Amino acid sequence: MLTSQEGFVTHLESAIDGTRLDARREATVHQDRPLWVRYDLPRVREALPREALRSRPPTLWRYRELLPFPLEKEPLTLFEQCTPLLRVDRLGGALGLNQLAIKDESRLPTGSFKDRGMAMAVNMALHFGRKRLVVPTNGNAGGSLAAYAAAAGAEAYVFMPRDAPGPNVLECLRAGARTYLVDGLIGDCGKIAREVAAARDGFDLSTLNEPYRIEGKKTMGLELAEQSGWNLPDVVVYPTGGGTGLIGMWKAFLELRELGWLSSASLPRMVAVQSDGCAPIVRAFLAGGRFAEPWQNAQSSAAGIRVPAAIGDFMILAALRESGGCAAQVEDSRIQEWQRLATRHTGLALCPEAGACVGAVLQLRESGLIQQKDRVVIFNTASAHKYDRVVPPELPVVDPAKPILPQL
Ligand SMILES: *Cc1c(COP(=O)(O)O)cnc(C)c1O
Repeated sequence: MLTSQEGFVTHLESAIDGTRLDARREATVHQDRPLWVRYDLPRVREALPREALRSRPPTLWRYRELLPFPLEKEPLTLFEQCTPLLRVDRLGGALGLNQLAIKDESRLPTGSFKDRGMAMAVNMALHFGRKRLVVPTNGNAGGSLAAYAAAAGAEAYVFMPRDAPGPNVLECLRAGARTYLVDGLIGDCGKIAREVAAARDGFDLSTLNEPYRIEGKKTMGLELAEQSGWNLPDVVVYPTGGGTGLIGMWKAFLELRELGWLSSASLPRMVAVQSDGCAPIVRAFLAGGRFAEPWQNAQSSAAGIRVPAAIGDFMILAALRESGGCAAQVEDSRIQEWQRLATRHTGLALCPEAGACVGAVLQLRESGLIQQKDRVVIFNTASAHKYDRVVPPELPVVDPAKPILPQL
């Protein structure tokens, strides 16, 4: 479908081979690999002085000129507020850092940073006339989609591993999403989601299967820059699963540099954190590969980073290398200990994924890859409360080997 799109988007670009595609059309992937949204940045620079942002409401929509949603349309929003960047000196001291901050993404509408991507992708799907939205998820993306679909009056199908955190199952059910537990991992959920989307004319919001979720996640980087007075930190420590957050933030930094909005030309070193129960990106980073081999028998108590294979693997690895950063693997069995350490020194309820980041900072301080004087930011990607033990109600369990469509 072709729709008018006033604004600053010029085209879509294949991340794997640079092929240009029409941004006015609904897009998915090119050669099974993700697409970038590209903007006319010189024109944005002319139209939007950085100071003009100050008078805008504190939500991710303040960066409209750098987002793909048509400027003349009113987006559906649950008030995706700018999240606080909190100085945490006591925790910094415990980790051997002079300047540590936590960007607390747990304040978003459904309690995780997934809302940034979903706010953007659901609005784009609605813009393209879609009313049936499908997502495979480890939990938080499902809860987020369920909320936005409910707000829009659209239909959501959510497929998640049967051991997904109970609060995620509950939030999907509460919002009226068609919720299925899959006897497998996120990859199995992805396969089923693709089949269902294809057979039922659904819009597939799988991680990086469409170009819009990255653009929503990009606002983490835009906000971080604005909150830091356009002087970015030295190191960004980020729990990495499918990679949209890390890829999106790196894209934000490059766009800001091109806009000339940053006070220093040097960009943060990006650190991707994974657990030793599922660390395909760490393994590929250390081996020097462009792509990551799928991880066998993945397990982690941090559901959001239990992603054995990511179609954006080469984009994550490129961001780590271009930024001079690294990938760090931490012990899964110690995640709870780090979560407690962090909460006792900050009062913030860090999710397990952010707990893993605390472990990674300790490790990188010891190895010298992070120094005491470095300005470090850890992302708390969700609220700890989304992982509390609750018993979800009985739901049908899907066997990935058997066709699901007749049951739907
Ligand atoms: C999804 C998720 C992640 C991983 O995010 P990506 O940007 O897809 O790598 C990390 N933490 C939490 C809490 C998540 O829900």
